[in-house]
Amino acid sequence: MEGRFERIFDGGGLVSRVVYGTVFLVEKWTKEVLFGCHNCGQCLLSYTGYTCTMRCPKGLRNGPCGGTSAAGKCEVYPDRWCVWYLIYTRCKRLHRLDTLRMMHPGVDWSLVGTPSWVNLLTGRDKVAEPFGLGKETR
Ligand code: SF4
Repeated sequence: MEGRFERIFDGGGLVSRVVYGTVFLVEKWTKEVLFGCHNCGQCLLSYTGYTCTMRCPKGLRNGPCGGTSAAGKCEVYPDRWCVWYLIYTRCKRLHRLDTLRMMHPGVDWSLVGTPSWVNLLTGRDKVAEPFGLGKETR
């Protein structure tokens, strides 16, 4: 299946470039507006209460740094909510706390700035499979 998508997106021809560019722009515009997306190319939104982990100033992808204040504020930017505090409260509200039991690989910087939808379909974002105690919910 991934091979078929690679031919669609990486075929090198005009059609491939147009399809790739269209997917990239649609993803970028919708996710930036809806989720404050940072275009990391390896999206975790479905695991993190639809909250972008890249909004964390330390770029943490598997939980808080330990500096979150008792009120849930960030230690780096005390006027902001800790991103992981938001992730926890939103997952709880969505009854998806089990997704927080997954461990995710660190950011693959070679994918930053590329469309995560394409990376998912082509299997490029599977640098390392998430592993964990919870059920797979992707
Ligand atoms: S307090 Fe939260 S948002 Fe701030 S750096 Fe730590 S984990 Fe990231």
